[in-house]
Amino acid sequence: MNVVDLTRPQLSDAFSRPITYLRVSVTDKCNLRCVYCMPEAGLPWLRREDLLSYEEIAELVRAAASLGVRSIRITGGEPLVRRDLHRLVASMAAIDGIDDVALSTNAVLLEEQLPQLVHAGLNRVNVSLDTLREDRFLAIARRPGLDRVLAGIDAAIAAGLGPVKLNCVVMRGQNDDELQAFAELTRDREIFVRFIEVMPVHENLDLQREAYVSSDEILERIGQIGELQPVEGPGGNGPARYFALPGAEGAVGVISPLSHDYCERCNRVRLSADGKLRLCLFGDHHIDLRSPLRAGATRDELAAILRASMTIKPERHHLTLGDASSRMRAFSEIGG
Ligand code: SAM
Ligand code: SF4
Repeated sequence: MNVVDLTRPQLSDAFSRPITYLRVSVTDKCNLRCVYCMPEAGLPWLRREDLLSYEEIAELVRAAASLGVRSIRITGGEPLVRRDLHRLVASMAAIDGIDDVALSTNAVLLEEQLPQLVHAGLNRVNVSLDTLREDRFLAIARRPGLDRVLAGIDAAIAAGLGPVKLNCVVMRGQNDDELQAFAELTRDREIFVRFIEVMPVHENLDLQREAYVSSDEILERIGQIGELQPVEGPGGNGPARYFALPGAEGAVGVISPLSHDYCERCNRVRLSADGKLRLCLFGDHHIDLRSPLRAGATRDELAAILRASMTIKPERHHLTLGDASSRMRAFSEIGG
C-alpha cells in the first residue's frame, strides 16, 4: 500500500496510484559494462547538447515536487561519471517538498565523491554488486574495480548513509553460487542485499532465459544457511520483499520485476537523461519534457504536462521471460 499524506498535493495516475517517486537519470554513460546491461563497446551515447543540464533537471523536479513528488533517486548509466554530481544533489535537496535524495551507483567512484555528496544532502545510496570475487567482477562488469566498490560501501556506512542496499542481479552459472556469501554480509552489518531477477533487455536476450533464477529458488538456497523470517524493509520506495537470518543486523530481499505485484504498487516515473518522462519501466510510454522546457514553459505549464502524462501510465507491463519483442534500452529502474 502506498501511504498518502493528504495535506500535500497529490499526483496520481489513471489507476489511482499516487506517484511520489521520480527517478532521474543523469547520463547514459557508464564506467562498467555489466553483461546484462550494456554491450562491451558501449551504446550510441547521447549527444552532450541533448542531455538536460543540472539546472534543467532541477526545474523539472520543482514542477514534479509541486504536484506531490517527494523522493528523488539519481541514477544512470552511472551517475558518478557525470561531473560535479554533488551540485545536482544540493539543488535537489533544497527543493521544497523533496524529502529524500538517494543515489543508485556501481560505487567505483563513490569513496572519493562521498564527502561532497553527503555534504550536499544525499540521504541514501544503493550499490550494485553482483559478485564478491574479483575474477568474476571482471567477467560480469567487464572492468576491474571490486576493491573500489567495497571501499565505497564501507565509506557509505561510515558516513552514516546506512542501511546500504546492495543490488545483486542473479545469473545462473555466473554468480548464483554466491547467494549464501552475500547473505552472510547481512549478519553483522546493516546491509540489505536485494537479489534481482535478471530482466530481458536488448543486450542480454540470449543470456537471460538460461540465466534466470526465480526469487523462490533464491530464498530456498539462502534458507539452507539459516531460517529466514519475513521482516520489514529498510524503508524507501523499493519493490523488494525482505527476509532476515536469525539475529542478523540486515536482511536479504528479492525483487521480481517480471511479476505484476510490483505494478500494483507502482509509485514511480522516470526522467531520462535527455528529458523524456518514462511512465513505465518496460515499453515505450513516454513524453518529451525537454522541448517545452527549452521553449520556455513556466513551472505551472510543466506541472500541467506532468499531470496530463499520467493518463498514459499503463496499469502494468506486459513483459515475460524471453520476450524478444520488447523495445528497451539499458534500464535503470529496477534495483535502484
Ligand atoms: N550504474 C548504476 C548501478 O549499476 O547501480 C545505476 C544504473 S543501473 C542500470 C541500475 C540497476 O539496474 C542496477 O542495480 C543494475 O544491476 C540493474 N539492472 C540493469 N540491467 C538489468 C537487467 N537486465 N536485469 C536486472 N537488473 C538490471
Ligand atoms: Fe553500468 Fe549500472 Fe549498467 Fe552496470 S548496471 S553497466 S554499472 S549502468
